[in-house]
Amino acid sequence: MVHFVGAGPGDPELITVKGLKLIKEADIVIYAGSLVNAELLKVCKSEAEIYDSKDMNLQEVLKVFEEAKEAGKTVVRLHTGDPSLYGAIREQMDWLKEKGIEYDICPGVSSFSGAAAAIRKEYTLPGVTQTVIITRAEGRTPVPDKEKLSVLAAHQATMVLFLSATLSEKIREELIAGGYPVDTPAAVVFRATWPDEEVVWTTLDKIPEAFQREEARRADGNMKQALIIVGRAIDDKTVYEYSKLYDREFVTCYRAR
Ligand code: SAH
Repeated sequence: MVHFVGAGPGDPELITVKGLKLIKEADIVIYAGSLVNAELLKVCKSEAEIYDSKDMNLQEVLKVFEEAKEAGKTVVRLHTGDPSLYGAIREQMDWLKEKGIEYDICPGVSSFSGAAAAIRKEYTLPGVTQTVIITRAEGRTPVPDKEKLSVLAAHQATMVLFLSATLSEKIREELIAGGYPVDTPAAVVFRATWPDEEVVWTTLDKIPEAFQREEARRADGNMKQALIIVGRAIDDKTVYEYSKLYDREFVTCYRAR
């Protein structure tokens, strides 16, 4: 049996109760060492086998799954944040299905939720935007033409960019070309929920400078664990409407006028 588990964005207390239980019971844990907090492995059984997938290719991971099945062992495949986003779990699940190995998924707190908490904002404000676009800039991994940042920009929704820390110039250009005003509020959240979390408040046209400043400040030079958030909803000064859900005059199925 293989359990895909979302480890959360960094803070070891942000894994689910269920996810932690699965780690405690696992015979084998394969974790994504580049982003998952290794603190979480402290609850493993003393005899548990632990692998860091940072040093493994897909075939090596699959081999561990296969050997575990033969030995009747339980595997936790620990992914950062929530595994449904940029987790590369589909290829693992398809292979497991083909081999007749059982698997399930325990969701996690994604870093985009961790980042919203870090900036203390709501992504969906009534009267401003009701949409969050989760995407990435095109780097070595291609992005379909229909999802070019300049095309997605037309909506001027709240946008959260993953895996794009080295592409900030491109993001600025394409989002401005697509119609976001140059002074659209933006935040770069480095290492959300980790002890060295950093939030840089800026505007769309100055996003690359936020990275330069952070790079100068950070001794570890690790700029990649960052999310770029763009949109009017994250500005303190943005005028929004109050929610209908809690409006005294608004009848819901739970509450009469
Ligand atoms: N499944 C993960 C995302 C994996 S892709 C999730 O749900 O969060 C890896 C990218 O996620 C990084 O390049 C970075 O953009 C982002 N990321 C992961 N953890 C982060 C954190 N604690 N703070 C900021 N960005 C993070």
